[in-house]
Amino acid sequence: MRVILLGPQGAGKGTQAHRIAQQTGAKHISTGDIVRAEIKSGSELGQKVQDYNDRGELVPDEIIVEMAKPYLTGADSWLLDGFPRNESQARALDAALKELGIELDKVIALEAPDDDLVKRLSGRRTSDSTGKIYHVEHDPPPENSDEDPGPFVQRKDDTEDAIRRRLEIYHDQTEPLKDYYAERGLLATVDATQEISKVTDDVLKAVGETA
Ligand code: AMP
Repeated sequence: MRVILLGPQGAGKGTQAHRIAQQTGAKHISTGDIVRAEIKSGSELGQKVQDYNDRGELVPDEIIVEMAKPYLTGADSWLLDGFPRNESQARALDAALKELGIELDKVIALEAPDDDLVKRLSGRRTSDSTGKIYHVEHDPPPENSDEDPGPFVQRKDDTEDAIRRRLEIYHDQTEPLKDYYAERGLLATVDATQEISKVTDDVLKAVGETA
């Protein structure tokens, strides 16, 4: 399975990719996670990308493409979450896959209205110990749990200003990729406002794995 998950911030790409990876054994490749891990490590590259991340701006294409590339050969089956984010990255991905002799199976666009996305993102909390994503109202982090002791943190770019900026960039630069992949016969869309498990089923059906 070689699949791209497209969709605005808060549509549930990370949650769905995590569930589908668990169910199918495909590797979940999140460029956002790669960026955050690099920042946490304090490396020179991490320092270079931190400012972009914290403001909700995209990291320059040549940096993110080089960061993502090694992961494409790290597993036979993968789900890309958060990459590509614009046409130049999509073209770089096409070129990298061609060079590796790998074909893309499907591109799934998760869709939800902006108002829902802002609500979801401002309540989002991530466990520092397990990486699991929660929501303060709909799926609150557990208290005193051995399985997931937390701490449960809010992402630096989940502030109102950064959220607004990220959605603006999504509509402007990432959403046109739906047409890019539709023209190549690869696009399927899924309603991301449905229950989490229903969204997973729809994605699995669209990629040809039985739900
Ligand atoms: P995400 O977790 O996917 O929302 O990504 C968090 C941040 O990482 C983004 O706001 C960007 O600063 C950076 N980032 C992740 N993926 C990309 C990408 N494909 N292109 C540029 N920047 C990215």
